[in-house]
Amino acid sequence: MAYVVPAPAIVSLPVVGSADRFPVRRVYCVGRNYEAHAKEMGFTGREPPFFFLKPADAVVPVPAGSVGEIAYPSLTKDLHHEIELVVAIGQGGRDIAVADAAKHIYGYAIGLDMTRRDLQGEMKKQGRPWCIGKGFDQSAPIGPVTPIAKSGEITKGAISLTVNGASRQASDISMLIWNVNEVIAHLSAAWELAPGDLIMTGTPEGVAAVVRGDRMHGEIAGLGALDVAVR
Ligand code: MN
Repeated sequence: MAYVVPAPAIVSLPVVGSADRFPVRRVYCVGRNYEAHAKEMGFTGREPPFFFLKPADAVVPVPAGSVGEIAYPSLTKDLHHEIELVVAIGQGGRDIAVADAAKHIYGYAIGLDMTRRDLQGEMKKQGRPWCIGKGFDQSAPIGPVTPIAKSGEITKGAISLTVNGASRQASDISMLIWNVNEVIAHLSAAWELAPGDLIMTGTPEGVAAVVRGDRMHGEIAGLGALDVAVR
């Protein structure tokens, strides 16, 4: 069997402590999952989790110890960083119970949910889909996956981002409105999860713009660091 056009490559992430890689199937994202960020975006309190997706090939894999590069995207004048804990699904399922959710996790990574905030804002105002604000090319730089066997379940720990050495975002994973297991439960009620799925779990407060030449440095306790330059 042959394809009539070139088949797309499988995007994959490096895995800490292994030469094998984590293949990416889908990239789910959670909106407004830290209270202080929900407030800075003009919302208050706890709402049911909601989701959007990025294409798998929007992922820019960043190997350990290297600086990833993304091109400043078209159409925007307000490209924002959102540092996020990324969950890598190892075992699929639907209607997964909160108590069983951790068994479905292969590991964790540090990711950036890059956002064309001006376009997202315009789409919100018009009641249109967020795709153009969130799902553009190279909108998801992500570092290596640390297996849960190595990290243990991540329920707390510092999450932070600096730009050119200056602090922009600093919070703790324990501040998630919907924790990782609850997110998996909600997501799997709406979609059947499968091995290779990534979940970007939401960003804390402090989102702001980056410009060409900026260097972002993200950290999550237990997962090392993620460095990405905007060119
Ligand atoms: Mn986000």
